[in-house]
Amino acid sequence: MKNYLVRVISDTLNVLGLACVTTDLVNEACRLHGTSATASAALGRALTGGALMAALLKDGQRLALKFEADGPLKKIIVEAECTGTVRGFVGVPDVDVPLKEGKLDVKAALGRNGFLTVIKDIGIKEPYSGIVQLRTGGIAEDIAFYFVESEQIPSAVGLGVFVEPHGDITTAGGYLIQTLPPSDEAMVDKLVTRLEGMPSVTQLMHSGKSPEDMLEIIFEGIKYHIIEKREIVLTCTCSRERIERVLISLGSKDIAAMIEEQGEAEVTCEFCRTRHHFNRDELEQLLQEMQTS
Ligand SMILES: [Zn+2]
Repeated sequence: MKNYLVRVISDTLNVLGLACVTTDLVNEACRLHGTSATASAALGRALTGGALMAALLKDGQRLALKFEADGPLKKIIVEAECTGTVRGFVGVPDVDVPLKEGKLDVKAALGRNGFLTVIKDIGIKEPYSGIVQLRTGGIAEDIAFYFVESEQIPSAVGLGVFVEPHGDITTAGGYLIQTLPPSDEAMVDKLVTRLEGMPSVTQLMHSGKSPEDMLEIIFEGIKYHIIEKREIVLTCTCSRERIERVLISLGSKDIAAMIEEQGEAEVTCEFCRTRHHFNRDELEQLLQEMQTS
């Protein structure tokens, strides 16, 4: 298991902890999208955050995160399922923003004036959707703020992606800590102090700490047990059928125009960059199906 996530809970059942390593899948996603160093850090953080959030879902559920703001990166979209699959892309992959104190400036790339929308498909007809203003544009703080503001769950999130000067990602991972009722003030204070004094996720991972080690540091002095360890993979859910539905949603007039003007169509999946090609016969068949249904 190269990319994995560990979930633990305190023996008192009111502190939940998740931590993961996502280095390989973040590298894979960044190569796929040809991201600049800053865009890699932003996408890597969002993919890791999405994987952590999806681990809180129940069987069969999935979620989408949409960060949209006034910075040059424009947006980050991530989808993740409870099974441990994740995918994502950014608005402007080759975004170029100056370093801030020698570090990649994700906040400047995404921008601070904007929103984080979380859409959860929990198996009922209407998906649940929550929207919050961005707190900092740094991703981790924004996800934590979403939980507090939209779901009323006190949460702390740490995300780290280290991009080498030549573009490779040498570490990526993060943690998500939530306190559940009955709330224990002393425990919350202890956790807040611990998290504030802790090295960053990147520093921890660079010094060789695993997700299990990160949780051990965070939960020091709190009795806990591991609930599960699962793999996380970068996988797309696009298929020919899904792309056909996208084409159908354009309407018969647009399809007819495509047949007339290009005689074919090519739709690129934004998540995995797969090109789905439709020739004249296939488009005509789609059109026929639309007109008879
Ligand atoms: Zn795809």
